[in-house]
Amino acid sequence: MIIAVDGTLASGKGTVARGIAKTFGLAHLDTGALYRAVAVEVLKAGADPGNIGAAEDAARHLDPSRIDQAAIRTAEAGAAASIVAAQPGVRAALFDLQRRFAEQEDGAVLDGRDIGTIVCPDADVKFYIDAEPRIRAQRRWRELVAGGSSVQLEDIARQLAERDRRDSSRETAPLMRAEDAVLLDTTHLSIDATLAEAVRIICNKTGAAPRT
Ligand code: C5P
Repeated sequence: MIIAVDGTLASGKGTVARGIAKTFGLAHLDTGALYRAVAVEVLKAGADPGNIGAAEDAARHLDPSRIDQAAIRTAEAGAAASIVAAQPGVRAALFDLQRRFAEQEDGAVLDGRDIGTIVCPDADVKFYIDAEPRIRAQRRWRELVAGGSSVQLEDIARQLAERDRRDSSRETAPLMRAEDAVLLDTTHLSIDATLAEAVRIICNKTGAAPRT
């Protein structure tokens, strides 16, 4: 069983995807981490994230088992990730890796921006997770403040709008809802309630039974 979870920044898609994986005993891949890791390598090499040669090279040599989880979670890595992710060569270099992950025998949950549209158009169930920009900005801001950052909510809201715009307007694999994806709006729904709804939909559509 393949489950595709796409959505906007800070919509809750990562948490929902991890929850689905745990519930059904499936492997989970956070594909945003791959783009972030490519961006971190480019920045570490002192190159510009928009430098096509540097980004493609980093994507081709990416070892997913050696991703520095702390380094990829910064706001700088996220912003640079959305710049490298707009490059077709980077997306092509990461495609096979994602596809192989999806095809593992016991099935998988992948979350990202183009899983239901490009990476796994054949997914058994597709979700598109979204929430109003203001709510998403508040969530991201709270996370950063809890982690010790002294960032302003207005700056986060601006960065989020910029990232939404870049991810949705790029030519290759833009962020969009697959026609057959179920929309889950988390503006007024807790992540637990969203996960419960996703699990209910998966059980109904596939006949799978939760393991937990
Ligand atoms: O989801 P996350 O914020 O970690 O993703 C970082 C960036 O990576 C996104 O803003 C997007 O530009 C890019 N991305 C993508 N395709 C994916 C996953 C992430 O373009 N499947």
